Amino acid sequence: MSERRNFRNGTQAAIAFMASEGNGESRVGRAQTSTLATLAQMIERRRTRKVMVGDDRVGRFGIGGDARVAVQTMTAGYTHDIDACVAEINRYADAGADIVRVAVPERKDTEALKQIIPQVKVPLVADVHFHFQRALEAVEAGIHKIRLNPGNISDRDQVNKVIDACKERGIPIRIGVNEGSIIERKDKQRRAEELGMYFEGHKSGHLLALMVAKLEEYLDIFHARGFEDIVISAKSMDAQLCIDAYTEIAKRFPYPLHLGVTHAGPKSTGTIRTAVALGTLLANGIGDTIRISYASDHIDEVKDGLEILYCLGLRTRKGVELIACPTCGRIQVDLFSLVKEVERKLDKEITLPIKVAVMGCVVNGPGEAEGADVAVFAGDRRGIIYVQGQRVANVPEEEILPRLLQECKEFEAKVNRGEAKLGEKIVEIVPPDPIGELGSGVDRIRKGLVEKVTVGGQ
Ligand code: SF4
Repeated sequence: MSERRNFRNGTQAAIAFMASEGNGESRVGRAQTSTLATLAQMIERRRTRKVMVGDDRVGRFGIGGDARVAVQTMTAGYTHDIDACVAEINRYADAGADIVRVAVPERKDTEALKQIIPQVKVPLVADVHFHFQRALEAVEAGIHKIRLNPGNISDRDQVNKVIDACKERGIPIRIGVNEGSIIERKDKQRRAEELGMYFEGHKSGHLLALMVAKLEEYLDIFHARGFEDIVISAKSMDAQLCIDAYTEIAKRFPYPLHLGVTHAGPKSTGTIRTAVALGTLLANGIGDTIRISYASDHIDEVKDGLEILYCLGLRTRKGVELIACPTCGRIQVDLFSLVKEVERKLDKEITLPIKVAVMGCVVNGPGEAEGADVAVFAGDRRGIIYVQGQRVANVPEEEILPRLLQECKEFEAKVNRGEAKLGEKIVEIVPPDPIGELGSGVDRIRKGLVEKVTVGGQ
């Protein structure tokens, strides 16, 4: 029954932390006026302890507490391939990664860290499995954070050595209790049966119990050493198990949580699995740093991680927010090619969070583009372009892309000069009546009947 006791102790630790922050009600009250609430807009984030990562050169920032949710990824190449590793890390940093993790399976990898760390733009995490010495070597090399796996580094003396080294240098440790590696395999079945009762009726109750129990056992080692610079992760390939595991852990422990769906698969399906799990948790205020795991270019992990945070209002968007119609039987331009090109060009050329809409027709286009700063809607191989509701051009299909880019750039310049504001409507686009002779909208476009000036009009 030691697991039962441990579960209770974990919950008590979380309650004690919250009590130290005030009672539940006042905590909520404070959070509503805190930076957390400002950053998250509608989402009230769970309050956790804060750990710090970084150094004087790359800068220091927090994970948890009132810090913004950090985006992580991991290198795909060999760490001991120093130049390639540095280039890979900095490419992710340029794409928006706040933290990058590297694998250090061999001595030559931790040795390489000494040359890598001074050349990168963001804090690095050493991903340590099986060999606790790799953690000690990484700390010695100046690593900013260590990740340990309780499933393969469990010897108390070894863990203590890592804790002591990290404590001395003020380096946080992530405890990663991934579903696939939480416990010695020979023991797994028996432990699962013993512990399953704690989450009876749950789809993966035994696994959930194993993850929580293993975590509590491991945390005991850290607590005995007085070490609190802890981040926790509990990843699974199953989105629902991820949601449940992190939710249970959030109730029990006051530490920041590193969210992830592990081995989410190819981007095509991994996107959905990840967005469901991470989106649900973050929307519920759970999660302090995220890592997406796709079997594809890891730049996608960074971009999609940021997009999840943008969607939830947990980050201020950088660059264009692109809205596009899915097309239907009314489409009269090659919209998919147009959208692809618009996305590619705007991604490179626009830095402000301008909302751009690319719509296929005048039937729903104006309504759907409402609120966009720059919009185009097409018909009969032409496109009419609007800037904050004001029509600025009516061009043939081949001129839509260059003209749209030109309008976006000019609008960005105006915003930068203080002559326009993002999200402001100067005039309102009134959608045309879809009944009658509208059809593709060609006549309406040509006759300029699509828009009606209602505010500040000419
Ligand atoms: S904007 Fe027009 S073409 Fe695009 S989906 Fe809507 S109705 Fe169809």
